[in-house]
Amino acid sequence: MVKRIILLLMIALVSFSIIDDPSEDGASESVQYLRTNMLKLIISETKRTAVYTGITELRPDILAAMNNTLRHKFVPKHLQQYAYDNRPLPIAHNQTISQPFIVAIMTQLINPQASDTVLEIGSGSGYQAAVLSSLVAKVFSIEIIPELAQHAEITLKALNYSNITIRTGDGYQGWPEQAPFDSIIVTAGGDIPAKLIAQLKPGGTMIIPVNDPYGNQQLTLLEKDNQGVLKQSKVLPVSFVPLVKSDH
Ligand code: SAH
Repeated sequence: MVKRIILLLMIALVSFSIIDDPSEDGASESVQYLRTNMLKLIISETKRTAVYTGITELRPDILAAMNNTLRHKFVPKHLQQYAYDNRPLPIAHNQTISQPFIVAIMTQLINPQASDTVLEIGSGSGYQAAVLSSLVAKVFSIEIIPELAQHAEITLKALNYSNITIRTGDGYQGWPEQAPFDSIIVTAGGDIPAKLIAQLKPGGTMIIPVNDPYGNQQLTLLEKDNQGVLKQSKVLPVSFVPLVKSDH
């Protein structure tokens, strides 16, 4: 118990002392320490939830992507000391950056491959897109709030991500010009947009938080087989911000 408290205190001290420095690029030992700790939490939560997800281990390349993505660059400055906690954090416009474990498990569930083109709905901070960047060929991401889309674009450019394209728009419409997609990752919860199913390649997968009749959300995996037949399976109860329907 005492050991645990000392460890937590150390983590808190390191988190408070790092990330105030704007030049902090994440290469320092202290940031690496926080990220290693975050990976441990993700690994233990993966084991704890395996009974729901069927996933006992995360792929090494996905863990590496989680380790290499500087989450503190995607959260508001005053929350940077919490960036490597395993929890969601508020970003602007009442939206949230997802919990790192959820980002990791959603990434694994779409089974990303190096040649894939992936569509994300709900760019938010740009963090999920950044995690996907090293795992696939191209990421297209749609965000309905223009200021968030612009901010995510600026963040990703500053960090030299070159295979991510963000646009402002309504995710319900998908991105027909870039379709079909190997996989689609929806990071806001609602119903399943029919146009997204249509824009998924045969053999493709979509992961999406779906509202259930009891007011909860279920992370849901949709797999389209080579004949175009859909299989739908519930993965995990989750809590995401709503997938907003635009008026048009
Ligand atoms: N993936 C983000 C977190 C997303 S939070 C990250 O890594 O930071 C969910 C986001 O979905 C919010 O930014 C919200 O504005 C956006 N959103 C909600 N409804 C949408 C819609 N219909 N189309 C596109 N984006 C939408």
